[in-house]
Amino acid sequence: MGFSLYAHIPYCHAKCPYCDFNSYAASSWPEDRYVDALIAELSSRAESGPWKNQPVATIFFGGGTPSLFRPESIGRVIDAAAHRFGIEDDAEITLEANPGTIDDAKLAGLRAAGVNRISFGAQSFNNATLKLLGRIHSADQTRAAARAAHRAGFERLNLDLIFAVPGQSLEEVRSDIEAAAELEPDHISAYNLTFEEGTAFFADLKGGKIRQLSSDDQAAMYAAVREELPRRGFPMYEISNYAPPGHEARHNLTYWRAESYLGIGAGAHSYARNGAGGRRWWNERAPSRYIERALSRGVAEAGAETIDEKTAAGEFVFLNLRLREGFASADFERRFGRDFDSVFGARAAPLLESGLLIRSADRIRLSDRGLELADAVFAEFV
Ligand code: SF4
Repeated sequence: MGFSLYAHIPYCHAKCPYCDFNSYAASSWPEDRYVDALIAELSSRAESGPWKNQPVATIFFGGGTPSLFRPESIGRVIDAAAHRFGIEDDAEITLEANPGTIDDAKLAGLRAAGVNRISFGAQSFNNATLKLLGRIHSADQTRAAARAAHRAGFERLNLDLIFAVPGQSLEEVRSDIEAAAELEPDHISAYNLTFEEGTAFFADLKGGKIRQLSSDDQAAMYAAVREELPRRGFPMYEISNYAPPGHEARHNLTYWRAESYLGIGAGAHSYARNGAGGRRWWNERAPSRYIERALSRGVAEAGAETIDEKTAAGEFVFLNLRLREGFASADFERRFGRDFDSVFGARAAPLLESGLLIRSADRIRLSDRGLELADAVFAEFV
């Protein structure tokens, strides 16, 4: 069985005010050295861990803005992964792209390098909302980018949308979905805007410069998203993700199923399962430190934690509950050697009784109401 590889590219043209990812506004970046560092890390990680002697099943270039890099640079990482691990024939290789950084030549280059899935941060098709979100692209640029991706032969195309933006109306959310579906992606992600500490939006919220939508308005928007996307051929398969069967993001399924993944690059996290527990580690966040460490030592770990069986069991439950299909209690038992009820029966009982969780045919999953209160449900298993 192959494993999932994540490669983080931390540079962006500008920092969006809502973004709490490990990303940095830059007008230039040490691209070749950064790729050298990614490859050095990849090589040293190939020597141990659950991915030793395993082929790569999925690669995800996330950021930041990976589309700022030249296709040849992305190709160097893919080639290194092929050389060190081997890549499965039907591997899913995704690259996140900002619609304002793409043209036909770049898309053709990425396709030639081996990328077979593009994920555009569309966010909205309303230019005023895009401006508020600090995006560097217009709605028309997203439309042009999606058409160019189809022209370049990308059959797998994701569009990210954000809803519950200050000032946004329910009507605007519905029209964003319509505009996104018209571009014929095979996958749509729709995220509820959050105000994370440390972001410009968080400071604006505290300073009274922007106002968050009421929780009722946010819930109504989420309900509209859950209604509109399936109606347009995109069933919900995860709390924020919608795709026809067979078009789910395989890379992300690795995270939600609590499987091992190797993350390389500045600030990247990794999880190496070891029996029922595992080890998690994370890299130096600052790109310059990451480069220096990875090039000199092969690894750039800034911290690590051992995940004991009890913690791993909780993570397994709340990650799998993100999926519409939930999980089979038989799978829980297979991994942890214990029956779900003997570990979590007492915590699950009130959630099942109140109807936030549903149990049928050996599977446990969130109900529609559970989806809306997902964070409170997850907290019971932490
Ligand atoms: S482009 Fe993406 S990663 Fe970069 S700052 Fe904006 S939201 Fe964050």
